[in-house]
Amino acid sequence: MQADKFNKTMARQKASVDAGIERASQEQSVIVLLTGDGKGKTTSGFGMVFRALGYGQRVAVVQFIKGTQASGEELLLRNNFPEVPLVQMGTGFTWDTQNHAADQAAAVSTWQAAGAFLKNPSLDVLLLDELTYMLAYKFLDEASVLSALHQRSPQLSVIITGRGGGTGLRELADTVSEVKNVKHAYDAGIKARLGIDY
Ligand code: ATP
Ligand code: MG
Repeated sequence: MQADKFNKTMARQKASVDAGIERASQEQSVIVLLTGDGKGKTTSGFGMVFRALGYGQRVAVVQFIKGTQASGEELLLRNNFPEVPLVQMGTGFTWDTQNHAADQAAAVSTWQAAGAFLKNPSLDVLLLDELTYMLAYKFLDEASVLSALHQRSPQLSVIITGRGGGTGLRELADTVSEVKNVKHAYDAGIKARLGIDY
């Protein structure tokens, strides 16, 4: 691109960015939903957790589905941020346990921990990792979950990850990103990789 054309494009972009900043003047917490069938939802959620920690903000993490393998983000939190509450649903993946009653009980008790965080007036960011599946499997009552999210402590931003989750959650969330699966190495027979996949 020629210099004068480049400068004109940049000037137009600056005007549009400035107008956007002017419009977005409300200071308030948000609900961010990271959904879709592609890779990158949980890692993005943890990205915001670590972003908030960088500013000394107070965060908490609740993981609704946990594999048997620890993840790098879990290790980083446990080893370096012992003050950050990390609650994990006791059972493994639901397709491993195949015990509906036990899974539902675990979901309900994990949601109780989430509910307490949602009311906490001194938390800044709460990650509810894989919460969507608890709604999809009907382990949790959707109306109660949506109302607890809506009535959360006003300063608290909430990040929710997982595929699906229903239209109610999409409507309630302020920011919704859908990660689209274009391709995944696993489908080509490549093993899940430490540091990338877990
Ligand atoms: P990540 O934790 O890497 O951000 P995610 O949260 O978007 O992934 P999940 O559905 O929670 O995805 O699955 C977690 C694991 O499954 C990760 O190891 C991830 O690489 C893998 N995975 C995610 N999407 C796909 C896919 N479309 N096909 C195969 N494996 C996937
Ligand atoms: Mg995930």
